[in-house]
Amino acid sequence: MKKYDVAIVGAGPGGIFTAYELSKKAPDLKVAIIEYGNRLENRKCPIDGKKIKKCINCKTCAIMNGFGGAGAFSDGKYNITNDFGGTLYEHIGKQTALDLMHYVDSINMQYGGGDTKLYSTANSRIKTECIRNGLHLLDAKVRHLGTDINYEVLGNLYDYLKDKVDIYFNTEVRSVSKSDGEYDLITDQEDFHCRYCVISAGRSGSKWMETVCRQLQIPTISNRVDIGVRVELPYEVFNDITDELYEGKIVYRTSKYQDRVRTFCMNPKGLVVNENTNGIITVNGHSFEDPNRKTENTNFALLVSKHFTEPFKDSNGYGESIAKLSNMLGGGVIVQRFGDLIRGERSTVDKIRHSFINPTLEATPGDLSLVIPKRILDDIIEMIYALDKIAPGTANDETLLYGVEVKFYNMELQLDENLETLHKNLFVIGDCSGVTHSLSHASASGVYVARYISENL
Ligand SMILES: Cc1cc2nc3c(=O)[nH]c(=O)nc-3n(C[C@H](O)[C@H](O)[C@H](O)COP(=O)(O)OP(=O)(O)OC[C@H]3O[C@@H](n4cnc5c(N)ncnc54)[C@H](O)[C@@H]3O)c2cc1C
Repeated sequence: MKKYDVAIVGAGPGGIFTAYELSKKAPDLKVAIIEYGNRLENRKCPIDGKKIKKCINCKTCAIMNGFGGAGAFSDGKYNITNDFGGTLYEHIGKQTALDLMHYVDSINMQYGGGDTKLYSTANSRIKTECIRNGLHLLDAKVRHLGTDINYEVLGNLYDYLKDKVDIYFNTEVRSVSKSDGEYDLITDQEDFHCRYCVISAGRSGSKWMETVCRQLQIPTISNRVDIGVRVELPYEVFNDITDELYEGKIVYRTSKYQDRVRTFCMNPKGLVVNENTNGIITVNGHSFEDPNRKTENTNFALLVSKHFTEPFKDSNGYGESIAKLSNMLGGGVIVQRFGDLIRGERSTVDKIRHSFINPTLEATPGDLSLVIPKRILDDIIEMIYALDKIAPGTANDETLLYGVEVKFYNMELQLDENLETLHKNLFVIGDCSGVTHSLSHASASGVYVARYISENL
């Protein structure tokens, strides 16, 4: 067995920032990162839209696994806020969480993101406009790295880490077990022994994380999934909001069901993209900093959170079933014009082709009302009309809705204020802990645990 002081499972933002901070605060520690996926430069999704149009279920998914984790090809929006992106503050306190997110931002700036913009909702007139129209704008600062700069920052962080930490790629950790108060990690390659184990396996590692929790009897709860659509419209409709804030996180309570609907992941001049979660195709979006790669459209998600109560426990299974239904009807993601949805008509290839909006994703024109449960669809329609008041044109006939967008949440683990499980020196951070759902929170949780380890050696 290879022996390490600290073994980190997963090279996503959580794992990278744990290793980074350990290299600064405890440079004498022997640290390993064990990653299921590829090196950054080898992460290439084979779908080219021509020869390969659909997911061919590669051994590891280039989009979700590998150095940089699920965030590697993301839009690189680092939100500095406790209002969304996770509940890290519940464990470590609000100020510490914000300080750590600022710290992560400063590292990203140092490693290639220095010329990018930090947006803020503070004193925004859009906030007033929202309140006047029954909408609520969440407070946040957001650093938008963009897909291209995000990739560059990751490359620079890898160059820094590679001489300080042993990084094992294409290595899947199969199990974690206790041995004399320390930990054995059995992988599909070599095996590892460590004093401290930090698991940061992300959303793609959620099923494996469930097994680890069962084996080590770590209590968990799981009851949430977010379901909705991705909206695409001309950039001009939302430019008042996106020029000032880049991303406005806007929440609305529907009058019909009193449900909360929120905007999520806004991409001005961006692209709508497919996302593959365990072979199920859902929709997402991103955008580039590079002016040459910008489009004429803005996209964002509208999501409704479903929290289930007893006896139902499989919230992710519920979300998967809805996404599978759209895959069954459309062979992947379905696109529908808002006007067609309201009239109860299917969108067709012809209708989409003759629209003034050019879709940025090739999806199957169809009828989302056959896929999305009525309550959720009603919530989304009500929200679109509400947004139309602050961004006139949102409810236009030709606004495109892509479905289904699903945000799966990992079950939440029982962790103490140090993100430590009931097993001493076994920490679970990032999205696989259920505590974070974002780049900034996942990264901050890594820094936090690294500091805790270095202070308690
Ligand atoms: C398309 C897309 C766009 C996104 N855009 C944004 C955005 O703009 N802003 C934002 O805040 N968030 C965004 N997110 C979410 C963000 O990427 C995640 O919140 C973040 O990456 C979580 O970091 P993490 O380190 O916890 O996990 P991950 O980034 O998922 O990394 C976990 C790593 O662990 C590895 N792993 C899993 N299981 C094992 C195992 N058994 N053995 C070894 N390795 C394992 C995986 O291969 C993976 O590389 C986006 C996500 C996606 C998919």
